[in-house]
Amino acid sequence: MQNYTYHSHTNTLGIYDGNNSAEEMIRQAEEKGFSEIGITNHLICHPNICKIDKYASMYFRDYRIVKDIYKKTIEEIKTASLKSKIRVLIGFEVDFFQDKEWRNFFEKLIPDLEADYYIGSSHFIYNNDYSKIYKISYLKKYPDMFDEDTREIYLHKHWENIKACAESGYFKFIAHLDQIKSKGFYQGKEWDEEKFKVIEALAKSKTGFELNTKGLRFCTEMYPSPWIVKELNKRNVPVVISDDAHHINQIGENFDVAESLLQKMNYNNRIHL
Ligand SMILES: [Zn+2]
Ligand SMILES: [Zn+2]
Repeated sequence: MQNYTYHSHTNTLGIYDGNNSAEEMIRQAEEKGFSEIGITNHLICHPNICKIDKYASMYFRDYRIVKDIYKKTIEEIKTASLKSKIRVLIGFEVDFFQDKEWRNFFEKLIPDLEADYYIGSSHFIYNNDYSKIYKISYLKKYPDMFDEDTREIYLHKHWENIKACAESGYFKFIAHLDQIKSKGFYQGKEWDEEKFKVIEALAKSKTGFELNTKGLRFCTEMYPSPWIVKELNKRNVPVVISDDAHHINQIGENFDVAESLLQKMNYNNRIHL
């Protein structure tokens, strides 16, 4: 069974959504018998992000100020890792945006941060030119913000963004591909075409994906759905099991369930950084 995780969160600097310090997360991974842990706090920066939810302290709008914040994040985790008995990697879970300004910002940031790796992610829905960016949860929390037409546009853009995220080449793997299903929306067959575009993009760009057990905490299945995992296996896309742990108790959670699904499918192309 996979005895490492590359997707976990901490409360570093007091701005992120993890519940524990890096030191506590590392210690827990050691106690679980893991050989490695990758800590990947959120890297979320875009001038047009709407900041009205409880996680707003980790959404930034100013490209000029974030480099220092992310460098301090790395430093704090590095200090914690000095006491570690296992390998500690430091990465970020990056919300990807396609517009030129964001790409310029991120491409300049990569050599400055020298992180070990980046996970590509998409926690938001967007209009076509990214002038409006909302957390996926707003679909449920603030339904009046979206009439049917705008919702349709936002959702197509969301899938298109995940496809572009896969194609970008920036990322070792893409996080929770169909996390949007946890809100109970958009699981119908009419969305399969969009999902197939993502599957093909991953295969073509040779970018990996994660089988994320957090899905079992928020809905009835992991991210992505087994049929998507099966299609990705047919195309030999690399996979890693992730817990997306935001708390020490979530490290390695349901890895046995994920492992047994992958073994049933003879999924052999695994990511090991
Ligand atoms: Zn995520
Ligand atoms: Zn995460």
